[in-house]
Amino acid sequence: MATDFNAVRRDRLRAQLDGLEVDAALVTRLVNVRYLTGFTGSNAALVVYADGTDVFCTDGRYRTQATNQVPDLERVIERNCAKAMAERLETEKLARIGYESHSVTVDGLDELSATAPSAELRSLHQAVEGLRAVKDEEEIALLRQACAIADRALADLIERGGIRAGRSEFEVGRELDGLMLTHGAEERAFETIVAGGPNSAVPHHRPTARILERGDLVKFDFGAQLGGYHSDMTRTLVLGEPADWQREVYAVVQEAQRRGREGLRIGADVRDVDAAARDHVKEAGYGDEFGHGLGHGVGLEVHEAPTVSYLGAGTLAERMTVTVEPGVYLEGRGGVRIEDTLVVRADGPELLTMTSRDLTAL
Ligand code: ZN
Ligand code: ZN
Repeated sequence: MATDFNAVRRDRLRAQLDGLEVDAALVTRLVNVRYLTGFTGSNAALVVYADGTDVFCTDGRYRTQATNQVPDLERVIERNCAKAMAERLETEKLARIGYESHSVTVDGLDELSATAPSAELRSLHQAVEGLRAVKDEEEIALLRQACAIADRALADLIERGGIRAGRSEFEVGRELDGLMLTHGAEERAFETIVAGGPNSAVPHHRPTARILERGDLVKFDFGAQLGGYHSDMTRTLVLGEPADWQREVYAVVQEAQRRGREGLRIGADVRDVDAAARDHVKEAGYGDEFGHGLGHGVGLEVHEAPTVSYLGAGTLAERMTVTVEPGVYLEGRGGVRIEDTLVVRADGPELLTMTSRDLTAL
């Protein structure tokens, strides 16, 4: 349901039109249309004008849904929304049309150029993704709930003895997925990772029929989706008494993760946040075994701006919602990753994923 905050978001984009040197923004990336209107269907486009006469388009399948979700905007019903909006912009003789160059295909751009030949097409430079990086409190509330669902699902799985030797990664993963749905997730946020023993050393392992064994590190990376928003959490447990090497690696990752979380300050350079965690892993001698970035933004997409990594750029702002997820992976033996989702706040980061980060032996 479109509400005031959708209008506020459109106004924030509108305020950028001058700086982007465009007269209107043609938004065709669905997740961005959803962010700006509340519409959840699979075909849509939106034009945001400097004067506020914004227009929304979807096709006939979504006529009723659009009436309910986007009651506050003029609605056009057309199959090819990008083309229909371009035709309209052509009749209005706007000189400069902003479009989402990172998502429009080469064919799509050809069609836009042919449909609106009198306008100059200019990139919006991912302006909507830039807005989305900073969450409003409505979004944070959904993210908080999604994270709480994941917390409860894992707690339930542990409590009922679902994580044990003799079960396959598949079985355990499906049970965890089911528990997230039971606790109110509309769906899982992404394919749940359950990785036991040597598989835990594969950062993005997909569950297999491998049977969990005593002595395994078992890594879970999973999340719930709620209202379109995703949670993202990783915990690594051990089956039975942890071996010394498992304790050592776990302690290194746990401390690196703590330092990464502490680094989440307004104005902090994303590369410095990454380094705060990574330097600890390096000093412990495992620098080569931590091959990925520290974290990423999370919201309507599981991975979105900002990139919190040595490969990233820019600084953190208040109400950005990001993950902190260092890992150490020893090929053939096992790996540990600990991941939380947090909100950048003036008085220090707000933790959304609450499950204990201490080494848990089952
Ligand atoms: Zn994750
Ligand atoms: Zn993540």
